[in-house]
Amino acid sequence: MDHLAIEVESLCKSFNGTQALRGVSLRVAQGEMVALLGASGSGKSTLLRHLNGLHRADAGPGSMVRVLGRTVQSGGLLARDVRAQRAEVAAIFQQFNLVDRLPVMVNVLAGALHRLPMWRALLRRFPENELNRAYQALQRVGIERCAWQRASTLSGGQQQRAAISRALVQQARVVLADEPIASLDPESSRRVMSLLAELNRELGVTVLVSLHQVEHAFAFCPRTVALRAGEIVYDGPTRELDAPRLRALYGTQSDELLGPPQPADGIAQAQPWQLPVLHAA
Ligand code: ADP
Repeated sequence: MDHLAIEVESLCKSFNGTQALRGVSLRVAQGEMVALLGASGSGKSTLLRHLNGLHRADAGPGSMVRVLGRTVQSGGLLARDVRAQRAEVAAIFQQFNLVDRLPVMVNVLAGALHRLPMWRALLRRFPENELNRAYQALQRVGIERCAWQRASTLSGGQQQRAAISRALVQQARVVLADEPIASLDPESSRRVMSLLAELNRELGVTVLVSLHQVEHAFAFCPRTVALRAGEIVYDGPTRELDAPRLRALYGTQSDELLGPPQPADGIAQAQPWQLPVLHAA
């Protein structure tokens, strides 16, 4: 079906006897922004890594991953052209996003490599239109002043914004973000989530973002897929995933998802399921 960005059927994955995914099936339409929620170890990262072929599922009939209508893996075997498929899929991880010793600009231009002839890629001789595109992408996320700094000198939030710029330069149609705000302060987290939401809303990019806590799913993602011990235990509107439901699904693990107790003033006093929807600036 053309309108599906992500299709997953009966995905199982075990690591040395630990079953990380147990028969996961999921469909995400193009243009959706979906939160992947779950406590540590529930399988979020493992699922995301299957979507761009970084992990192979256990062999088994019926297991399949398709992204933008193209098979990434089937029955535990990767598609031959899996590298080419990654051109349209951007991965934003919690860490290891950028090459530390290279300037931010070069990291962002890496998003253009799949469009360039090999000699340009090897010599890092980028044509002017790609340089302009990269600069505009940095402007869009508000870090153009850092363009020629080494990536290692950026803060965590700025690094994630650089990774979003790279996805823009890549002209990705799907963004897979694995806990992109896990180690950021609240303001940087909001900024990064706003930018992902902007990509989704303004450019129609499909975003699947794993989150450790439910607060940002409420603010930015209309749909949530919740995992527990490698199984999908909820798939539906985020607004219906209230605290009692989280407790029913996760038991004592729900505390991890609801976040730390908030200070007793202002908006922080509200429970996550009462937070107003934040719109991207
Ligand atoms: P989450 O992203 O929700 O924190 P993960 O997908 O990282 O969860 O992990 C799911 C389960 O799979 C955990 O039990 C984890 O220990 C295990 N696991 C994940 N990756 C590996 C790996 N490379 N080797 C061994 N076990 C792994």
